Amino acid sequence: GATGGAGAAGAGLHSRHRAVLPDWLALYYDRPIEITHGEGRHVWDAEGNRYLDFFGGILTTMTAHALPEVTKAVSEQAARVIHSSTLYLNRPMVELAERIAALSGIPDARVFFTTSGTEANDTALLLATAYRGSNQILAMRNSYHGRSFSTVSVTGNRGWSPTGLSPLQTLYVHGGVRHRGPYAGLTDERFTEACVADLEDLLGHVRPPAALIAEPVQGVGGFTAPPDGLYAAFREVLARHGVLWISDEVQTGWGRTGDHFWGWQAHDRNGPPDLLTFAKGIGNGMSIGGVVARAEVMNCLDANSISTFGGSPVTMAAGLANLSYLLEHDLQGNARRVGGLLIERLRAIGAGTAAVREVRGRGLMIGIELVRPGSGEAAPEAVSAVLEAAREGGLLLGKGGGHNTSVLRIAPPLSLTVAEAEEGASILERALRCA
Ligand code: PMP
Repeated sequence: GATGGAGAAGAGLHSRHRAVLPDWLALYYDRPIEITHGEGRHVWDAEGNRYLDFFGGILTTMTAHALPEVTKAVSEQAARVIHSSTLYLNRPMVELAERIAALSGIPDARVFFTTSGTEANDTALLLATAYRGSNQILAMRNSYHGRSFSTVSVTGNRGWSPTGLSPLQTLYVHGGVRHRGPYAGLTDERFTEACVADLEDLLGHVRPPAALIAEPVQGVGGFTAPPDGLYAAFREVLARHGVLWISDEVQTGWGRTGDHFWGWQAHDRNGPPDLLTFAKGIGNGMSIGGVVARAEVMNCLDANSISTFGGSPVTMAAGLANLSYLLEHDLQGNARRVGGLLIERLRAIGAGTAAVREVRGRGLMIGIELVRPGSGEAAPEAVSAVLEAAREGGLLLGKGGGHNTSVLRIAPPLSLTVAEAEEGASILERALRCA
């Protein structure tokens, strides 16, 4: 476990960080951690403390830290050549595109690779607006889609949208958050009806939008999801108006939610989205993002558009090795089994903890929402206290939520074992006493 002494090296690096990096580059913890190495589901810091990593799985390391298969593929490709993915043929890029196109469920799919989720969504917005000849976009309240000018413009989460100036005209619709706002307290059915009626009303008096962009489970927003059937109902309305559906699978893709390979599959009786974006874990830490769309949509641009680093042979080699590992070891099944046990265990812990409002999730994407006991108000200070206490206990967690950071987020590498899930739950149980 971690001991948590403030090592001089770590403190020195933090002040150097503050001197040269932007203030808005959020770091976790009062004494931020310098991660120096990792293995499996664990990482170590510069002071020699070991942590069970319950958040790196969604941030970067979908499969496992220092996975030998990925390390080998990366170093072999790096030793051969790291050229651009544009202008010349690139075998690993073609191979990964073929595999993702087949997995996407999108007919006649084309794949474009980027280096981040932001750039993937930015590209999806470029395609949708060009295809439809409209810069009007529908987005969900409480959403997060990236940090670029266009993606902050469709990010409903105010804490992550640092400018109100926008190249797009965005209209935010209800659906992700259940217990705040005018539709709080409704049943799933009434909530869905109210959100659909609101969308239909909106479409009746705005210019025709290009697309609706949505996360199947809101990630940064605190692992909240609309009731089953809501997105499907939205899509039926939007299809009548020709509005495209962009499924942002940056957090929900590749089997993390256990029951499904993609997040959209949990919601959709209407089949695959028009555009699907992915990033984060597919490279197991190497920077891969991308967009999948049917040929007609992908090929609607009437000028060249290339990315020097998107599809780099070295990141594509990582993606191929990681995807093979993930499928061969049925990590989606592991997420379902181990995630199911973990959710059950956390619900039992939560039932005995006044500060826990809800434990929710699918597979290895689990949120614990904290409130002030009594008032039921959001409890960002409790979230920070639990995060610090868990760190002292040797467990790394994430946080998130809407206007207030009131949710602890759990998203370990998908190879998490039952013993590790139990170990993490026990550390968390002790840490929750600080809430
Ligand atoms: N979409 C979603 C749903 C995300 O969670 C994120 C990252 N938190 C992004 C897009 C942006 O990805 P990146 O940080 O790689 O630009």
